[in-house]
Amino acid sequence: SAKAEGRGRHRVFEPAMNTRMQARLALEAELRRALEEGEFHLLFQPLLSLPDRQVVGFEALLRWRHPRHGLMAPDSFIPLAEETGLIVPIGHWVLREACREMRRWPGHCRVAVNLSPVQLADGPALLRSVEDALAASGEPAGRLELEITESAMLRGTEEVLDTLRRLKERGVRLAMDDFGTGYSSLGYLRTFPFDKVKIDRSFVRDLPHDGESRAIVHAVIGLCGTLGLTVTAEGVETEEQLAQLQRENCSEVQGYLFGAPQPAEEALRLVRGAAARRQDGGAAGTAQV
Ligand code: C2E
Ligand code: MG
Ligand code: MG
Ligand code: MG
Repeated sequence: SAKAEGRGRHRVFEPAMNTRMQARLALEAELRRALEEGEFHLLFQPLLSLPDRQVVGFEALLRWRHPRHGLMAPDSFIPLAEETGLIVPIGHWVLREACREMRRWPGHCRVAVNLSPVQLADGPALLRSVEDALAASGEPAGRLELEITESAMLRGTEEVLDTLRRLKERGVRLAMDDFGTGYSSLGYLRTFPFDKVKIDRSFVRDLPHDGESRAIVHAVIGLCGTLGLTVTAEGVETEEQLAQLQRENCSEVQGYLFGAPQPAEEALRLVRGAAARRQDGGAAGTAQV
């Protein structure tokens, strides 16, 4: 019968399901513990202005040094951290740590921190978290940039808009991340108080040869110019891509061509080296890669 068949099928899948569930539960328990044990750390990837290629800041990118699985990239644990709500304390740690690290950089260098939609969903808690991180670092709000993905805007209620406005009033800069991968992007740019748009690296990858990518990048940069927004191109890996972005008057770039996400000490050496070159009478006033 169908019932027997169903039960049979159920039995077949059970062991696999259990294994997956157990792995997930184990990971969740480990995630809970990781903050206390100090298993998280941040890497910093340089952001450069064009056309001068000066380092104007760093994006903080989260890593988990798992005792058994080794170094874990955010895509492998952030979804679970979001489902369990653990992203809230983890995100708070990221904010504090990023703002603390920024204190060692020259004053013109900003730090960019990625926010989860889950953090954005509780506006008052997020505002407290940002306030606490800024107070602990003693740095001005204008040096902190918050990156929010377009998909986070899908839950773009009046409350989210209100939270973004408050952050903006506080002087924090707002960037829309992975632009072009979500929906109704153009409308959001008008409605939400962003300072910057980061063009997703999928549009940068096939520059300059792919006509569609070229057209999209051209349109986004043009629109942002009209709206007075800074544009950062993500995932710049080649001189050819850079040349095309420069032809389009893109304002900022980020990618392996200029620097991978790197430990705090290396990021610091990068900006300190540039400051030393400046004192030696070098042409560059800031870090150049
Ligand atoms: P994202 O914010 O778009 O970060 C850029 C990602 O692109 C990073 O991956 C970075 O390592 C990678 N990348 C940078 N330059 C290049 C390049 O030239 N070529 C290629 N192929 N990739 C490049 P990562 O570090 O694995 O982070 C993945 C995503 O995880 C981030 O995407 C961000 O959405 C999320 N994430 C990272 N840290 C945090 C965090 O602290 N909190 C939250 N909520 N999300 C985070
Ligand atoms: Mg980002
Ligand atoms: Mg991005
Ligand atoms: Mg991304």
